[in-house]
Amino acid sequence: MTDDSLQQEMQSALEHWFGYQSFHDGQQEIIQRILTGDELCVVMPTGAGKSLCYQLPMLMRPGYGLVLSPLVALMRDQVMALQQRGIPAAALDGLMDADQVQQSYQQLRNGALKLLYATPERCQTQSFLGLLANYPPSFVAVDEAHCISQWGYDFRPAYQKIWGDTQLFDHFQLCAFTATATPEVRDDIRRQLKRPDMADVVTGFRRPNLSFRVEVIQGEREKEDFLNRQLNPPRPTIIYVSSRKTAEELHERLGLHFYHAGMDKTSRNEAQNYFLNDPCPILVATNAFGMGIDRPDIRQVIHYNLPGSLEAYYQEAGRAGRDGAPAECILIYSSKDVKTQEFLLENNNPPPEQLQALESHLRRLHQALEGRPAFFDEEALARRFPLFDSPRQAFAALRILERLGLCERRFFSYAHTGTLLFRHPVEELLRQHDGVRTQRSVLISRMASVLQQCNEQELTTSLQQIVELTALRFDQVQHCLYALMEDNTLLWKESENTAAAYSLTRAALDSPQSLIHPEELKRKRRRDVARLQTMKQYCFSHTCRQRFLAQYFGERTGQWTCGKCDACQGLSMAEKNLDSHRSPRQDRPPRGVRQATEEECRLARFVLWCISRFHYPLGMRNTAKLLRGEYESSSGRRCPLTLSSPLNTSQKELIALLNSLCEAGYLTRAEHQTIICTPKADQAIRQRTLPPFPMTE
Ligand code: ADP
Ligand code: MG
Repeated sequence: MTDDSLQQEMQSALEHWFGYQSFHDGQQEIIQRILTGDELCVVMPTGAGKSLCYQLPMLMRPGYGLVLSPLVALMRDQVMALQQRGIPAAALDGLMDADQVQQSYQQLRNGALKLLYATPERCQTQSFLGLLANYPPSFVAVDEAHCISQWGYDFRPAYQKIWGDTQLFDHFQLCAFTATATPEVRDDIRRQLKRPDMADVVTGFRRPNLSFRVEVIQGEREKEDFLNRQLNPPRPTIIYVSSRKTAEELHERLGLHFYHAGMDKTSRNEAQNYFLNDPCPILVATNAFGMGIDRPDIRQVIHYNLPGSLEAYYQEAGRAGRDGAPAECILIYSSKDVKTQEFLLENNNPPPEQLQALESHLRRLHQALEGRPAFFDEEALARRFPLFDSPRQAFAALRILERLGLCERRFFSYAHTGTLLFRHPVEELLRQHDGVRTQRSVLISRMASVLQQCNEQELTTSLQQIVELTALRFDQVQHCLYALMEDNTLLWKESENTAAAYSLTRAALDSPQSLIHPEELKRKRRRDVARLQTMKQYCFSHTCRQRFLAQYFGERTGQWTCGKCDACQGLSMAEKNLDSHRSPRQDRPPRGVRQATEEECRLARFVLWCISRFHYPLGMRNTAKLLRGEYESSSGRRCPLTLSSPLNTSQKELIALLNSLCEAGYLTRAEHQTIICTPKADQAIRQRTLPPFPMTE
């Protein structure tokens, strides 16, 4: 088929199935490539129309297409929308009962479906995989593909697991779709999907009707005053906050409607209905709000707190002005919010040694409890690992092990979990009670032997688990514990919060070695630091905000600017609020700035390559010294990188180069004035070119 006739066919399919007259930016190219058999990694922002890119080829081809998505609510919405258009589609999500699932399977076997949506969990069932093997889909769309990557901001382990567990998908044409994936996340997606050759298509990040702006506002009171001004006159608005607490506070103080994931279902539905149906809704919400909520006429999105990444920011801000009419996206910057994000970053990136200690603890518990899940209670965990600063940090570490695929959360037990601690040495107790057949002795000797086996002083467990371990009855266990506490043999402290139960995963059991790789964790930490740095850089940037965002996501923008943001209007906050004592940027003479030469670009790329390989980051002077082969560690640590042939560029020139690379967004300042590579640098290193950038002398 010629390109022309294919395009005509696409156009009539678009009109026939969806009633739309024209394609959105990028859709036509993507659909055409899918139809000709390409495998693509498509990055298009939320609302740009990714679904159509995979739905149309599925409708145009014989058979049915499979759409994988980890977000059940979105999936149901899409299937409903398709069914309303008369398109035979079905969703297999975790909320369906066995009969409903069988019914969909039957429809599929009868050829009555054009589109089938399924969750990652479904792909782990043999019955579903069997069905796919016998009735192969015409094409597989992997939606929300950033959730596959650990480095994406919304990782779902089950989604990643599919590709490792089965070879089945190797035989299908596969395309990945996501709204937010930096080049390195895209590389990871390709790796996980085992599709090294999948081509990138990045498009649609420019939103000409949106005006982006950053405001520096330090105090809470000042922030509230600003909100009041922005909400007057009222217009449909979402105000994103970083915690449930802030959402509730703003509700109390300003009388605004609010939404967060901690509310009960009825209140959440009420808030959603208000938002969808009120002619002029104003809603304060955490990032839990927004998935699948499609209200086109939102006139402003205000970020009351700094988000942790530009990915999150763009996703949320992009909900403004879907109807194409002008809308504002305002981000409030305060140094307190930076501190909060730094605190979260620390919590999410504990030192590898702590995670290793936790892993060994889990393994010992697993053995001593004969494979039963291990209970964890925040307080007890923090007591057991004094290295953690707080119970919350200890629990965050446990969730990291979960993300690394080492353990999985079993269930929550709301009652009868607690921590058991003997008042006497376990050896002594075992000597006295082993072999004695009274209920008390059975309980003491069994639990003491568990503690001995895992070499611990105390154990978080549940009454149910003690029943299983001792083979006593529930009431007997209760009675014994009570009596043993009375005579001071042991202490049983009920968990105050819920205790979570974790089991080692198959992968952990199969691997005798640790699954914790310190190097990888350090890389992840550096990435998180860089993400937050980029977020800050965005706030302080003088360049067009939309261009900054689009380039961050990998779209080629050339010299395009939006003309609407505060930077384009010459009002960027750095000038407005911070540098008010300086003359405006336009007036400053552009003295000493010129384009880098080809030679300098080559050198710059080499320098970035070196820095990206440092074992730990250095400050600017030390980085320059190291590149010149003159670095000496003062703390006796190993040199971060050994160069076989050091540069003979002067220290001064190297520092000028490093400064220019910071200005150009390739390097960024991390903690203690160290410098690290940004994702933009990683991309330049990979692509082996670095385009000319402004050099300051
Ligand atoms: P994404 O998945 O990229 O966030 P969706 O696929 O959900 O976005 O699409 C957002 C909205 O845009 C949907 O309501 C969809 O029907 C609409 N849409 C997509 N493509 C077109 C088009 N070519 N013309 C008109 N509307 C479109
Ligand atoms: Mg989508």
